[in-house]
Amino acid sequence: MDRAQLSLPPTYYPEPIEPTILQRGGAMPDSPFWNKRHETMPRDELEALQVHKLRHLVEWANERVPYHAKRLSDAGVTADSIQSLDDLRRLPFMTREEWMRSQVEHPPFGPILAAPENDAIRYHMTSGTTGRTPIRVLDSMKDWEWIAEMWCYGFWGFGVRPSDTVFFAFSYGTFVGFWGAHYACEKIGCLVLPGGNMTTEARVKQIVDMKATVVCSTPTYALRMAQEAHKLGIDLANGPVKRLILSGEPAGSIPATKKLIEDQWGAVAGDTAGMTELGTIMVFECSEQPGGTHIIEPHFIEEVVDPVSAEPVGYGEQGERVVTSFGRGFIPVLRYRTRDLVVKVPADRCSCGRTLDIYEGGIVGRVDDMKLVRGTNVYPRAVEAIVREFTEVDEFQIHLYTAEGIRDEIEVLVEIPDADADANSILEKIGSELSEAHEGLRFGVRKVDNDSLPRFELKAKRLNDEREVVGGAGERKKA
Ligand SMILES: [Zn+2]
Repeated sequence: MDRAQLSLPPTYYPEPIEPTILQRGGAMPDSPFWNKRHETMPRDELEALQVHKLRHLVEWANERVPYHAKRLSDAGVTADSIQSLDDLRRLPFMTREEWMRSQVEHPPFGPILAAPENDAIRYHMTSGTTGRTPIRVLDSMKDWEWIAEMWCYGFWGFGVRPSDTVFFAFSYGTFVGFWGAHYACEKIGCLVLPGGNMTTEARVKQIVDMKATVVCSTPTYALRMAQEAHKLGIDLANGPVKRLILSGEPAGSIPATKKLIEDQWGAVAGDTAGMTELGTIMVFECSEQPGGTHIIEPHFIEEVVDPVSAEPVGYGEQGERVVTSFGRGFIPVLRYRTRDLVVKVPADRCSCGRTLDIYEGGIVGRVDDMKLVRGTNVYPRAVEAIVREFTEVDEFQIHLYTAEGIRDEIEVLVEIPDADADANSILEKIGSELSEAHEGLRFGVRKVDNDSLPRFELKAKRLNDEREVVGGAGERKKA
């Protein structure tokens, strides 16, 4: 087609580099939804959209990634054979172990890229748990558009608007963390304050000086900044911050932790969760705060399965998240076993009008987090939910060790900085509540020196397992 046929004006200008949110199809300023059509779609239309996208994803993976093509063909799956969401179950699962192994065999990215490395504009990797191979990922410009778009659903949905000033307490490194959120806030039209490479004191001061109305951090670091503000004599509760957007740890949906954060900041706190494997968030809490996070279902299919049998579990039952993602062109993600534990409930649990289902209590833990102590299951999240009820406790750590060479013991170390607090009675109460919630399992609870426990900016690790048999002697028994 020549120019005349396209009836372009004599001088054709490309799109402006930074289209406004309205040109991008973003939210109207007075709408509670970032994308009303997507967020309020009737469930049958939503499922039809997911089936349509799934067919395209399978086609894309089949054509572009021989590794996936083989797996799909082994399972007898073709794009044409996908007629309904039930067909999703014919696709093979992908595990983190397989992903890591594929990278070790074909370094550095594994045979999972759907585009040439040269076409990428960004590299990120998982924050790296000791001894594990990090997952390394590449993305295109288009992928980053989508990554930011997912965060827009979350920020807008929790009430962030163009008039806001948003501070990021985030290190801006190779860990993907809040990178997408940063771009989302630019896209919405907020003033963005990038708080990388700063001390906690400098961050707190800048939040106040620059009158930030929104602060983004992990739940743990939100508490850490509140402690610092207290030391500096800054009254955050009467400060400029109206909203906190939390991510990176499940604690953003633990009621006691969330309440503590909201009280100390005098602001509302909204939970989000994402993962490096997707590059962005897949769930967010809306401003109605329904006690959980909406799933961005027009862009992801989130299945919940039994972590052992891999059979689907129903609404209200706890299981493992399995995610299929439609937005990342560089890395197709099909039925990825996340090891995150969740409880899915229907969208009508929330009154906001979204038709998107909800993870009640957000990400409630990790399959691998479960510790078996003398035959009793212990989840770090459940311990945190109890310890955080005691607002006198500044920081804590769960310590597992072997006593007398044979017996698993569990203790909780706590810092109680207030000299006037009745520490002994607090320790006793924590111990009895923990025991009650764990089939009578005895927990030692010990006060330690102030500031002696580690503080975290990212992905707090409050469980220290020093048992002599790695993973614990009892771990091999099935609970
Ligand atoms: Zn809602």
